[in-house]
Amino acid sequence: MAGGAARELEAILDAAVDPIIACGPEERILHVNSGTERLLGWDREQLVGRPITDLFPPRLHHFHGLSLPRYLLSRRKALGGRPTRVFARRRDGVELQVEVTVGATGLDGDERIVFTMRRMHEVIDSLEEPVEHIPGGPDSASHQETVDRLYRLLVENAPLGIFHFDRTPVITACNERFSGLIGTSKRNLVGLHLLTLRDERILACVRESLAGRPCDFEGDYRSITTGKVTPVRVRFAPCYSEDGAVVEGGVGIVEDITERRRVEAEREENLAQLDLLVRSAPVGIGFLDTNLRYVRVNETLARINGIPAEDHPGRTLPELLGEPGTIAEQGPRYVLRTGEPMVGQESVSDEDLGVSGPRRCFRGSFYPVRTPDGRVLGVGVLIEDITERRRAEEERAHLYREAQEAIRVRDDFLSIASHELKTPLTPLSLRLATLERRLERGENLDPGVLRHARHQLTRLTGLINDLLDASRIEAGRLSLHPESTRFDLLVEQTLAGMEGQKGNHTFDFEPPREPVSVHGDTFRLEQVISNLLENALKYSPDGGTIRVRLSLTDDVAVLSVTDPGIGIPEDQQQQLFDRYFRARNASTRSYGGLGLGLYISRDIVERHGGRIWVESEPGRGSTFYVALPTLASVRPALPQVWPDRHLH
Ligand code: ADP
Repeated sequence: MAGGAARELEAILDAAVDPIIACGPEERILHVNSGTERLLGWDREQLVGRPITDLFPPRLHHFHGLSLPRYLLSRRKALGGRPTRVFARRRDGVELQVEVTVGATGLDGDERIVFTMRRMHEVIDSLEEPVEHIPGGPDSASHQETVDRLYRLLVENAPLGIFHFDRTPVITACNERFSGLIGTSKRNLVGLHLLTLRDERILACVRESLAGRPCDFEGDYRSITTGKVTPVRVRFAPCYSEDGAVVEGGVGIVEDITERRRVEAEREENLAQLDLLVRSAPVGIGFLDTNLRYVRVNETLARINGIPAEDHPGRTLPELLGEPGTIAEQGPRYVLRTGEPMVGQESVSDEDLGVSGPRRCFRGSFYPVRTPDGRVLGVGVLIEDITERRRAEEERAHLYREAQEAIRVRDDFLSIASHELKTPLTPLSLRLATLERRLERGENLDPGVLRHARHQLTRLTGLINDLLDASRIEAGRLSLHPESTRFDLLVEQTLAGMEGQKGNHTFDFEPPREPVSVHGDTFRLEQVISNLLENALKYSPDGGTIRVRLSLTDDVAVLSVTDPGIGIPEDQQQQLFDRYFRARNASTRSYGGLGLGLYISRDIVERHGGRIWVESEPGRGSTFYVALPTLASVRPALPQVWPDRHLH
């Protein structure tokens, strides 16, 4: 090319907006216009001599075994001058989508390949690499052949059974997959009248599609030849004539849904198991949506709420439970507000929730239920009825307290008992020493000293007897020897027997006008009377009057012993008759005693069919009552237990 013409051509090319690049047969750049410089960011001098592929991303350098320029050239005919969309690469590495048209002139060493590019401003995110197109013009015979071949491939390789039928309806074509599903060869199928399938629902679909309406069939297909049953889904569709005016036949697309059915069945089974698991869980399970309306609850939660499960969906806790529901809703509200779970909230139905009826304890946990991407769908509710557990805990705590109390009582008793048993010993040994001394000296013996010694001995004996009796009662071995007894006389005798003990006290006894007889153990009843009298003496100031009365009402004899003593605090009156119990105003230092007398008395009285109780005011005195059935009212003899021995 003459220099002038070349410059002129160069100027013409530079005037074009779009990049134009020319390269030689070895695909190295010979010329670029200024549009190329502008678009791709290179200087002309830098590009000349470089491989043209430097202007494209490396992954596009080769296509189907050809270099990119050769590949694009090979498609020239098929594209008929239309551009190919491709990514070009700027000098800074940025990829731009461009439309490329490639042309060539000359042969061999003179060959020039010319790229014309156009930047696609409007398309920003679709990379469409050059795709396969059917070679040859649409009208050529080879084109038609390729189309047919492609369709055949498409139909044969489809993972679906495909068949075509005409209006008769007779199958006119099908693929291998279809013949496999039907269980017979393609040859047998083509020409088969669909009526012979003898399936009314399939035939109905065939008729529908021939009437121009697509139709679906789903069911089990039984192979005509093998009898094998396959669950299938068939989509029937009409096939129109080329001008689209008439339905010439139809096509059926058959899908083997064995696997799908299996997966569905498995999923259903899993869901059913899950449902069962939730439904029969021994904890209340529920789900609240983001408006705090129940979506679902299991039976246990329905029972806890006292409302049928089916009445829950769509309703809020306050709507279901009223005021207690508003309180219970605080947990789920917190979860929605913070997105944090709230675990192990304990509440008591009457105290915390204000619910009437038997007291129940609950433990509730609330947690956010989220989608995999973290969105909160609602609140999961777990409620456990822990009434029984609480009760057991309280029972354990109660037993523990009782055990502690028993230990305390035992320790107290041991220290009191040793003190009580020791107390008479010192005076006793003193008296005995005095007696010994006098005897040695040949002096006269003082009966007073002897009396005192005997008194201490009696006291010791009484204490030991009480201990023995208490242990017999515990073992259920305190025996009674009941007989007809004049209770009024027994009271008189006991009073008389205590003359020596009463000090400056006065006994005020008015015998009843008529005799009072009971069926009882004289020795044991006397023990009860003397215990009451001894207590009256012990717990009242010296010189006080002890009032003793015996009355007879409705076949019941009631003995009362009233003293003007220290009285008994009201809250302790019930416990006086318990083993080892001593009221807090009866300190060991001021008043000796083991706390056994009333315990033994109660056992004796009750085993006589009677009752013992106290009326008292602290600081003002006490009255002890013993009520016994009279002889006339007594029915069978009292039970006899083991004979026992007493120290007298
Ligand atoms: P004790 O040997 O301690 O007197 P009791 O079983 O006879 O044992 O009495 C139990 C407790 O009842 C006494 O420790 C005392 O606190 C109280 N009590 C019994 N009788 C009287 C009474 N008459 N006045 C005041 N307290 C009494």
